[in-house]
Amino acid sequence: LQRLNRIRDAITTIPDFPKPGIYFKDIFPILGNPEVFSELNEIIYEASKSMPQVECVVGLESRGFLFGPILAQKLKVPFVPIRKKGKLPGEVVSQTFELEYGTDCFEIQRGSVTKGQKVLIIDDLLATGGTMKAASDLVTKVGADVVLCLCIIELLGLKGAKSLDKPFKSLIAFD
Ligand code: 5GP
Repeated sequence: LQRLNRIRDAITTIPDFPKPGIYFKDIFPILGNPEVFSELNEIIYEASKSMPQVECVVGLESRGFLFGPILAQKLKVPFVPIRKKGKLPGEVVSQTFELEYGTDCFEIQRGSVTKGQKVLIIDDLLATGGTMKAASDLVTKVGADVVLCLCIIELLGLKGAKSLDKPFKSLIAFD
């Protein structure tokens, strides 16, 4: 718990970003402190080991890319990115999802995860849960098995975890 408190203390809250009324949790101060960052990566690794045999780590654009490849290296499994529409080359599979205003679209490269593969999806933060749900739906759509959705931060007030239909874990919760 003390280890997590060091990480919690490094996260800053920026009012009115990106819009008035939003309190944005900034995780980059964690990366600004190599000891804290290294500690967090170790905690993420431990959390993922509580799951049976993760075979692939999928990271969500863009802050899932900061933690996902490090976890994949520690687990000695592949890292695969999910990106917003039009960013990934080659053949992709898409998943459209609802945002507060309008829709967005996630893509994964066809063949990058395999049927039945046990996948851990990682992102920095869970708010409404819409982003993680879309990613989980996309990974499921290509035939893989989502064994854990992992976020560093969970904003409890938005009850985003309720919208997920796969196992979910967060490391640090804010009201
Ligand atoms: P959701 O779809 O759960 O509402 O939003 C989560 C997504 O938006 C994540 O990909 C996350 O990176 C981003 N996000 C939303 N609010 C914040 C925030 O306060 N801080 C950070 N770092 N990311 C946020």
